[in-house]
Amino acid sequence: RSKRRGRGQITVYSQEIAQEMKRATQLEQALRNAIIADEVDVHFQPIVNLKTEMVAGFEALARWCDPDLGYVSPAVFVPLAEERGFIDALSETLLRKAAETALQWPKELFLSFNLSSAQLMDPSTSANVLAIINRVGLDPRRLELEITETAVMTDADVAQKIVTELRAAGVRISLDDFGTGQSSLGRLRDFAFDKVKVDRAFVSRIVADRASEHIVKAIIAMCDGLELEVVAEGIENASEASKLQGLGCGMGQGYFYGKPADAVTTLRYLAEKYQEAVPALSRAI
Ligand code: C2E
Ligand code: MG
Ligand code: MG
Ligand code: MG
Repeated sequence: RSKRRGRGQITVYSQEIAQEMKRATQLEQALRNAIIADEVDVHFQPIVNLKTEMVAGFEALARWCDPDLGYVSPAVFVPLAEERGFIDALSETLLRKAAETALQWPKELFLSFNLSSAQLMDPSTSANVLAIINRVGLDPRRLELEITETAVMTDADVAQKIVTELRAAGVRISLDDFGTGQSSLGRLRDFAFDKVKVDRAFVSRIVADRASEHIVKAIIAMCDGLELEVVAEGIENASEASKLQGLGCGMGQGYFYGKPADAVTTLRYLAEKYQEAVPALSRAI
């Protein structure tokens, strides 16, 4: 009896796995088509100077809504494109679109763009990135690339080479989601970063939890000493914002200052509100 049940279970599992594989393949095909049809979009979320509360730049975030599958998160389709070997095609479209949009902003605003870990293992990434922004005409000094700790750990030598080439061209490098990966403080010393983005996991607990406050305080002090800029991610309300301002955190990003919005909405906002203090942004977008 138990044997039969066991076999039944195996059948159920293998059906689930087959379903899962089928869905991934459907998703892959739909995404490949969307890239060709130019249907993958980019939204922009403001990053603000926490002292002046003015916009300093925007992070580009990939958006894809398939007519049949509905909204698919970039946390799902970016890893899929990496696994199935077409992250370059996806990323090229996204960076081109993001850079074209950034050209229409005031020149002092930067564009921050996420690089995936697979791209940091491919030595041709630096040349590819520079070729794209060159073609579009975006000054490399206006570009920041966000990379994660895991990406840097996987193949440190190749990643180091890519980062060195990009920085030589004037591109700045941010360490994204700091504090959540397999952090090594030594990496902050050995690797040439310009900015550190403190993960939302710390920010969202900074008001209620003393430990999180101490951790963020220590990160800010360490980054000051290392001459790295600090961005707090995922600021959702005024109390988190003022806590971070009190700790001397230089920059912030989150729904409180503005949700990711499409290129047109972002431009309209900049045309109307640029040069004003940002809290209005959360109302505008
Ligand atoms: P990330 O780079 O850490 O981006 C921040 C994520 O937090 C975004 O999710 C953003 O919408 C969300 N977020 C921002 N402020 C808040 C807030 O106040 N509260 C909350 N709850 N969330 C907030 P999103 O857009 O779903 O992107 C998820 C991840 O997908 C990104 O994490 C990034 O790792 C990846 N991703 C997105 N676009 C791209 C891309 O163009 N290329 C690559 N390689 N990865 C991308
Ligand atoms: Mg990011
Ligand atoms: Mg992040
Ligand atoms: Mg994050």
